[in-house]
Amino acid sequence: MAHSNISIFVTHVGCPHLCAFCNQRTITGTADLPRGGDVRRICAEQLGRIKEPGETEIAFFGGSFTAVERSYMTELLEAAAEFVGEGMFRGIRLSTRPDYIDREVLTLLKSYGVTAIELGAQSLDDKVLEANERGHSAQDILDAAELIKEYGFELGLQLMVGLYKSSRETELANLEKVLAVRPDTVRIYPVVVLGGTKLAKLYQSGEYKLMPMDEVTDICAVMLERFEEAGIKVLKCGLHASEFVERDMVAGYYHPAFREICEGLIYRRAFEQELESAGIEKGIAEFLVPSRQLSKALGQKKSNVRFFSEKGITLKITPSDELEEKLRLIKITDAGR
Ligand code: SF4
Repeated sequence: MAHSNISIFVTHVGCPHLCAFCNQRTITGTADLPRGGDVRRICAEQLGRIKEPGETEIAFFGGSFTAVERSYMTELLEAAAEFVGEGMFRGIRLSTRPDYIDREVLTLLKSYGVTAIELGAQSLDDKVLEANERGHSAQDILDAAELIKEYGFELGLQLMVGLYKSSRETELANLEKVLAVRPDTVRIYPVVVLGGTKLAKLYQSGEYKLMPMDEVTDICAVMLERFEEAGIKVLKCGLHASEFVERDMVAGYYHPAFREICEGLIYRRAFEQELESAGIEKGIAEFLVPSRQLSKALGQKKSNVRFFSEKGITLKITPSDELEEKLRLIKITDAGR
């Protein structure tokens, strides 16, 4: 099912403290807190605009939804619940911290028609969680995830790649741990260091050294591919384009076409494997790819064509409406060995 949301940002309120990388004002572009009346107004407006509201969820993002004051949380949920049901929106989605999930709150969320819960996991490594001042452990994430699934909610995990004290090994270990949890969805956010955060200070002092961009895109591409192979929907790969992020970013891995870059890398590796097993080092290699995958196969701004050209291989890619597999090598010309 297609995922579309009406996003309502409940910025930072409820968070027990500020995580080292967090500047919620920048991420969401807003600092005003919605009230029940705002939720009703937004939902009513969108209900009139959206063609298939039954495919859309009302989403409370931006902070730690289950950590906000209980009366405020139920005020928002009550307003949203009025717009869920036959001929209206599909359900309610929210994001929260793993250490603010328990049976009592899950029962309450169920009663208001919440369908999906996304946990800001960020990392499943205790050393990284501690260094980035998350205030919870990896076990808290696993426990909360288990409970969310037990209650029948759709489970989402949000991950940050390249945090302080993380490494390629840590990220790939995180990937395996998330696969073992089997969430329904994930969001992969390569780190963006925002001004005014603790992470920015660590970066500016030289204590926090970023992995090279290539390394991070490579890790994210591996994650994207493995999650998709496992049937886990990747709702995001890269921070969404926002003038606030571009304005406040001090360093990090922000690119408006981050996902396309990762998708191109996945194809690049598939071409490499195919060429290697065919023993091709130079020449013209012609491939068929499914038509809908053509832009991924070419790579962002045809980067894959350029990449192989620099190695002496001319990549010719033909789209096919029939092809079901990822790619097929159909012809090699002048393959010098
Ligand atoms: S829990 Fe989320 S919203 Fe709250 S401070 Fe940490 S990163 Fe920011």
